[in-house]
Amino acid sequence: MYKKFYEFGISDIVLKSLSDMGFEEPTPIQKIAIPPAMEGKDLVGQAQTGTGKTAAFGIPIVEKGKRGKIPYAIVLTPTRELAMQVAQELNKIGQGKGILCVPIYGGQSIERQFQSLRKGVDIVVGTPGRVIDHIKRKTLILKEIKIVVLDEADEMLNMGFIEDMKRILKEIPEKRQTMLFSATMPPEIRSIAMKYMNNPENVRVNATEMVVSKIKQVFYEVREEDKINALTRLLDVEDPSLTLIFCHTKRDVDDVSGRLQKMGYYAGAIHGDFTQSHRDEMMGKFKKGDIDILVATDVASRGLDIPDVSHVINYSIPQDPDSYIHRIGRTGRAGKSGIALTFVTPREYRHLKLIEKSAKTKISKAKLPTKDEVKKAREGEMIAGLEHEITEKKHAKYLPLAEKLFARYSPEDVAAAALSIIFGDMEVGDIKESGTAQPSPDTGFVRLFMTIGRKDKIKVADIVKSISAEADIPARKIGNIALFDTFSFVEVPANLADRVISAINDIMMHGRRVRIQHAKEKRK
Ligand code: ADP
Ligand code: MG
Repeated sequence: MYKKFYEFGISDIVLKSLSDMGFEEPTPIQKIAIPPAMEGKDLVGQAQTGTGKTAAFGIPIVEKGKRGKIPYAIVLTPTRELAMQVAQELNKIGQGKGILCVPIYGGQSIERQFQSLRKGVDIVVGTPGRVIDHIKRKTLILKEIKIVVLDEADEMLNMGFIEDMKRILKEIPEKRQTMLFSATMPPEIRSIAMKYMNNPENVRVNATEMVVSKIKQVFYEVREEDKINALTRLLDVEDPSLTLIFCHTKRDVDDVSGRLQKMGYYAGAIHGDFTQSHRDEMMGKFKKGDIDILVATDVASRGLDIPDVSHVINYSIPQDPDSYIHRIGRTGRAGKSGIALTFVTPREYRHLKLIEKSAKTKISKAKLPTKDEVKKAREGEMIAGLEHEITEKKHAKYLPLAEKLFARYSPEDVAAAALSIIFGDMEVGDIKESGTAQPSPDTGFVRLFMTIGRKDKIKVADIVKSISAEADIPARKIGNIALFDTFSFVEVPANLADRVISAINDIMMHGRRVRIQHAKEKRK
C-alpha cells in the first residue's frame, strides 16, 4: 500500500504545497482514495468527519488541472461554512500551480460571485441552491467540467438537497469523473452513486479502527448537579490545550459555557440558535486560540472543520455509538494522541456499556481529581503566571509601589493580599460521594429577567461584573446567566434579589438602559 504523498505520482509543485500546509503523510482515507482518483476512476469514499476527505479529492483535482478561464471541476457542499473551508483548502493545495478556487454560496452577493466567476476560475465549490441559481443565470459555465465532487453527501441528504444535486449532475457533461464523499452511507446516497456514477470504486475507512488506538478514553461517574464542578476540576488538573465539550441541548451549551466564562475560563459556545456570523466568529476564535474551550451541540459541530483538540469532553453522554465515535474523533488526529472524557450519571451507566460494546472500544473508569490535586494544579498555574510576569519584566512599573508597601508590611502579607485580590477565594466546588442524595446547588436562587442581550454585544462576564459592582455582591454568588438575543436571565440568591433589582434597574449598560425584574416562570 502507498505510504507517502510522493508515492502517489503527485508533481513536485503540489508536493511542495502539501508540505507548506504541514501535511507530513496521507491520512488513511487519503491513502486509499488518492490512487483511484488519480487514475480518473469514479469514487465513493466513506470516512468520519475530520479524516482529511477534502485533500483526498482535492489533491487529484489540483493535480489534473491547470490555471485557465472556465471551471474544470465543481465541488458541491451542504453548507456555506463547508464551501468556504473546502475552497480555502483547495486554494492552498493549488497555491503552487496557481489554481484558483472560489466558493459560491447563498448569502453572499450574487453579483460579487458573478464578478469572480467572470474573471476566470478553475474550481468552483458551491452549495446546491446557489449553484442552480448561477446555472439559471448562465453565470456558471459547466461545459468544461471534468470532475464533480459531492462532498458530505449524507449532510446534503439531511438538508434536503438531493433533488438539487441530481439536477446539477444532469447539467454536467457525462464524460467526467464523479466522486462522492460521505461520513455515512444511507441508501439514498448509495442509489445516487449507482445512478449517476460509472462503476465507482468504493473506499472506506472504518471509524472504530481509526480512533480507538490513538485516544485515551475514560469515564467518570458524576451526578448531573456535580457535572460543572467535575468539569472545572478536570480542566484545572488536565490543563488541556484545546477542549471541545459536547452537551445534549442548546440550553446546556449556554449554561456550561456561561458558567465557565464566569469562572474565568476562555470558553465559547456554538449551537443552532446562533447566527451564522456568530458561529464563524466563534470558530475563528477557537482556531486562533483566543478561546481554548468550545462548548457545542452535536448538530452544531457536525461537518465543521474543528482543529485537532487535545481533549473531548462528553458533558452529556452521546446518544449512540456513532455519535460517540464522531465526537471523540475530533481529537487524536493525524497520528497525535488525544483524550476523551465522558460524564456518566449513575442511570446512564448501562447506556455507556452499550456504547462501549457497539463501538468496539474500551472506556475505563477513572476518578475525578481531588480538591487537593485541583489546588496544587491551580497553584502551579499561578506560580507559572507570576514567573512569566517577572522574567518578562512586565511587573516593573509596580516595583516602587511594592517598596512602599514593604516599608509597612511584610513581603508575605503584601504578596498574599495581592494574590487574594487577583484570584479571590480559590474554593474548589464540592462533589458529593455517589449514592447520597443532595440538593441542587441552584436551590435558593431566583431568576431575574434583564432587557439586555447578545445583540447589545454584552457578554456574560460583563453582566457579572456590573451586578457584582453595582449591587456589591461577590461574583461567585451570581448563578447561571442565560444570554438571548435581546434579553437575558440571571440567577441570584433569593435573599439578594431585591438588592440586585434596585441596583441594576434603569442603569446604563453597554449604552443601553436596562430594566430588570423577577422572571415570570420559574425554572425547573
Ligand atoms: P473531513 O472532510 O474528512 O471532515 P477535512 O478534509 O476537513 O476532513 O480535514 C480535517 C483537517 O485535517 C483539516 O484541517 C485538514 O487540513 C487536515 N488534514 C487533512 N489531511 C491531512 C494530512 N495528510 N496531514 C495533516 N493534516 C491533514
Ligand atoms: Mg469534509
